[in-house]
Amino acid sequence: MKTLPKNGVKQVLIVGGGTAGWLTACFLAKQLGAGADADSVRITLVESREIGIIGVGEGTFPSIRGTLATIGIDEARFIRECNGTFKQGIRFNHWVREPGAEGADHYFHPFSLPSQRPGGPELLPYWLQGAAGPGVAFAAAATMQKTVADASRAPKRPGDPDFTGPLNYAYHFDAGKFAALLCTHAQSLGVQHVQATVERVALDDDGAIGAVHTREAGVLTADLYIDCTGFRAALIGEALGTSFRNINDVLFVDRALAMQVPHERPDAPIASYTIATAHEAGWTWDIGLHQRRGIGYVYSSRHTDDTRAEEILRGYIGKPAEGLNPRQLKLNVGYREQHWVKNCVAVGLSGGFLEPLESSGIGLIETAAYLVSYLFPHDGDFEPVAKVYNEMMKARYERIVDFVKLHYCLTQRRDNAFWIDNADPASIPDTLRDKLAMWRKRAPHRMDFVVDYEMYPPSSWQYVLYGMEYPTALYANARTLPRMEEARKEFATIAQVSQRALADLPDHRAMVEHLLKRG
Ligand code: FAD
Repeated sequence: MKTLPKNGVKQVLIVGGGTAGWLTACFLAKQLGAGADADSVRITLVESREIGIIGVGEGTFPSIRGTLATIGIDEARFIRECNGTFKQGIRFNHWVREPGAEGADHYFHPFSLPSQRPGGPELLPYWLQGAAGPGVAFAAAATMQKTVADASRAPKRPGDPDFTGPLNYAYHFDAGKFAALLCTHAQSLGVQHVQATVERVALDDDGAIGAVHTREAGVLTADLYIDCTGFRAALIGEALGTSFRNINDVLFVDRALAMQVPHERPDAPIASYTIATAHEAGWTWDIGLHQRRGIGYVYSSRHTDDTRAEEILRGYIGKPAEGLNPRQLKLNVGYREQHWVKNCVAVGLSGGFLEPLESSGIGLIETAAYLVSYLFPHDGDFEPVAKVYNEMMKARYERIVDFVKLHYCLTQRRDNAFWIDNADPASIPDTLRDKLAMWRKRAPHRMDFVVDYEMYPPSSWQYVLYGMEYPTALYANARTLPRMEEARKEFATIAQVSQRALADLPDHRAMVEHLLKRG
């Protein structure tokens, strides 16, 4: 019979101090009241001074606002200390067709949901029937966010309370600065910080983690260990040997080159969306922070080589890249079959990584950290909790794989092997293929999703699907879509309100600078 820790779980050791480690520390400390009294759980985070954090991961999903509010970091402090800006969505350049081909050269994935007046018609089926007018993209017709973001406006006004505004939004930020902010904040919540490198992980007689042996701080033990050691996966992978499901037969990118580039002028407009531009063997991200841009090329090593990749990156950036050297990163694309094994939980890159598109990395950390603190097994009975956690995390990863693949597999690009291979039906998971077959005849509906397993709401799927110009041949007539006139008026109203919003919302840079001054 397995033995439970005698006094329940009283000590947690988090190994790793990147976004995953510190965010988990903050969640746990908030939930469990670290060190506040004798009964509380002691939370320690050990991180290596030499190894350092991955230092990329600068785009987020709107869930981050709830996370910051939960752990108690206010918006102005976050923007100020993390070089932060607002993110209203993602602009996808050249994903549908190659540059120069006839047709739209980009589409937008906004974070705001399609407008839905109480009692009003659901707009998507009417959009599919042309109610928004010819050539108007769904994202541009159904919310004012694209118009606002295209005009460099912020999603909120100076008087709006923290974390709220007329439009849905997330942030861009400096990953290194975010980890530093979380480190200070976690310690203020009672988390102990140890700087030491783990050299060996010892297993106990049950095959669980028994102790970690560090170079500088001796042997550290705990009742529960959280592996946040990044791609190294020192506990869940190296020590426990948990299997890793590689998914590079579905998602091909496995290398990245990253650069930090200055703005052309100190007052240059800052895009309030990530710009994801498709290239011959991958895509570039372009993220505007307050004081610089973060730009990188993620690519498939099976479809190009590093020298050509650097040429593509430099070609995209142009003059500002002169004299700068990119950092190269190798990506393990996939996820653990089990994220919680015995007394060890993987959070962050140690548990898995898909690719930067749609910022699933930090979103998954938020889910994992929330789940660990919500499910926290005070009595040390890990098994039932591990089962729920593993099911939830595996389902989330699987659903994200489908969502990310959706961006690639509908491409009309046939200009090189990367895009041709991405559209090959053999590379599309059955779960996605089945959905696409359904959506040939009807539009995606929230009933197609088990929402607790999904990181992305149904509207995100709709924006991407129709951004990629998927041909849904709706079975529709005046009886199935009786509110055509109302829908037309609704689209016209959204267009008018969008113009008014341009007068109402501040310039993006000005809004960021307002928060910086708030102090
Ligand atoms: P890391 O940042 O690698 O931290 C690992 C920690 O473990 C470090 O503190 C290190 O010192 C410590 N450590 C390792 N070994 C030891 C040891 N032996 N002893 C002691 N300490 C140890 N996510 C998004 O949401 N949005 C994005 O836009 C995005 N872009 C990305 C772009 C790229 C190219 C990549 C690779 C990832 C991107 N991600 C993105 C993912 C995101 O970067 C990560 O999910 C996030 O930074 C969390 O990393 P981590 O904390 O798991 O690992």
